Amino acid sequence: MLMKLENVSKVFADLTVFQHLNIEVNKGDIVSLVGPSGCGKSTLLRSIAGLSRVSSGKIYIDGKDMTNIKAEQRPVVLMFQQPLLFPHLSILENVTYGLKYGKNKKAKKERIERGMNLLEKVDLEKLSGRYPNQLSGGQQQRVALARALIVNPSLVLLDEPFCSLDPELRTSIRTWVRDFLKKEGVTAVFVTHDRDEAMIMGDRIAVMKDGRFQQIGSPEEVYQHPDNEEVAEMFSEGL
Ligand code: ADP
Ligand code: MG
Repeated sequence: MLMKLENVSKVFADLTVFQHLNIEVNKGDIVSLVGPSGCGKSTLLRSIAGLSRVSSGKIYIDGKDMTNIKAEQRPVVLMFQQPLLFPHLSILENVTYGLKYGKNKKAKKERIERGMNLLEKVDLEKLSGRYPNQLSGGQQQRVALARALIVNPSLVLLDEPFCSLDPELRTSIRTWVRDFLKKEGVTAVFVTHDRDEAMIMGDRIAVMKDGRFQQIGSPEEVYQHPDNEEVAEMFSEGL
């Protein structure tokens, strides 16, 4: 088991975002976290990444209690909706940025080697010298993925990564990203409010609503055997 949440709760002043969340994620698995807007998906990812403190409960990653460990020390990367590439840096420099400073610091030669290796994997090695604004939205997402993976994170958290893409691109890139993550054996939590996307991306789906996991199961289980009305409603009507 690579990641475990134990009774995790988050309260902002007078708002309880989620309560007593429990889940275990196995190494190499992709878990889709799906739920309506405002249900706390981003807050949960930020908590796992260490950017937000949980109010109670424990977060384990790689078997270690990470609940009170700073974000920089967690073997986790969080990818946002917008790729947020540095506009003034080349694609290769963007990808290798995580190896320039801090605990993952590497010499220039190794940075370039690893950067080009990852760019090859995401099929962008020919564009390494370009700048972000010379790339399409889908290509930028692939750069962001390469940049996230360069530090060899144990866990990748994706927060609605395809939201800003047009529908057609969205359909093609999600399949590509899923195949890529599976091929690389990456453990990931994939957040979406789109039912179809959750079904396609996840080995398992965690359905979040009203501050709780309403059900955690395979796409088939959640779709065919919803545990309760909430899940049935979300999966029959979409979100
Ligand atoms: P989702 O990603 O599922 O759309 P969020 O995690 O962004 O939901 O937000 C969950 C709830 O927590 C929302 O009601 C939001 O307004 C609230 N919230 C998020 N961040 C803060 C914050 N820093 N302070 C107070 N309330 C917050
Ligand atoms: Mg969100």
